[in-house]
Amino acid sequence: MKDVYSLADLRDWPVATAGVVPPVRLAVFGDPIAHSKSPQMHNPALSQSGIEAGYARMHIRPEELAEALQLLPKAGFIGVNLTIPHKQAALPLLDEVDDHARRIGAVNTVAIRDGKLTGFNTDGPGLVRAIRAEFGVEIKDLRVMVLGAGGGAGRAISVQCAMEGCRRLVLVNRTLEKAKSLAIELESYFKGSDDSAAGTRLGAIPMENLPVKAQLQNTDLVINATSMGMKPGDLSPLPASVLMPHLMVYDTIYTADRTPLLKASDEKGARGANGFSMLLHQGALSFEIWFNRPAPIEVMRKGLLGL
Ligand code: NAP
Repeated sequence: MKDVYSLADLRDWPVATAGVVPPVRLAVFGDPIAHSKSPQMHNPALSQSGIEAGYARMHIRPEELAEALQLLPKAGFIGVNLTIPHKQAALPLLDEVDDHARRIGAVNTVAIRDGKLTGFNTDGPGLVRAIRAEFGVEIKDLRVMVLGAGGGAGRAISVQCAMEGCRRLVLVNRTLEKAKSLAIELESYFKGSDDSAAGTRLGAIPMENLPVKAQLQNTDLVINATSMGMKPGDLSPLPASVLMPHLMVYDTIYTADRTPLLKASDEKGARGANGFSMLLHQGALSFEIWFNRPAPIEVMRKGLLGL
């Protein structure tokens, strides 16, 4: 199997994959894609489950997505994962999109059945499982703050929290307008018999220390969905001085064990976990969609860790 396949390979799939065993029948599409750890997680799971299929990386540019998706049934694919920049763009290109992915407005998993492509989103449900695994709690019981609610992951997480019926949701974004428009979209999830209750259970604030600190007094779980902390030398999205010991802090970033935000949380005595568990659980949920059976989660975890 090649490290990275291309659209040109997909156009001539039997030739591009001649002699590859097991046959490549799953892939992740992205641009860039070389860094993706998904094959590391899925290939051991496929092998352990006795499924005769391989999972590959495929470099698909935005202008290539429509053709690449169309070619999949004929090439014998079971499904694909979609990552940046395809998650939103794929929606109008699929035969069907499940209701949950439509509400989130993004697809990260495509299943191919009887020649038809159906889109799903496992990022939000993966986050729910990750929070359960890391902290032993349910999102529905929590007052949640999402940092970077205006980005792709932040939106998926915020919609998921609203759908779970979390007790309170504060949307934080550098560009406040994006958080405000998402709050308007999510209002209906927080309206009870008394409409005025929505205002206190749902809010949108700028990513500034003073308003964030004021809201953190009434928050149980902080989720970082900004990209701050991905690059070496990045600052924490929130300084330790703003954080409090009662908080659970989940950083969706998984490129470092202790991200800048988690270091700040440690300093303040708050509990923290990085995005490894979300990556693992969203992958396990994709596997469950494709094969309608539980995913071998420990095999996937070891694969991701390179063990
Ligand atoms: P995105 O769509 O580009 O969104 C980036 C977000 O970060 C936006 O809200 C943006 O605010 C904010 N941001 C960027 N730089 C900032 C800064 N200097 N100060 C304040 N806010 C800043 O990216 P994405 O695809 O949602 O990814 C975001 C993060 O989620 C990444 O770190 C990624 O690793 C993580 N993620 C993890 C998983 C997992 O499985 N663990 C899955 C998906 C994503 P503006 O709106 O103001 O630009």
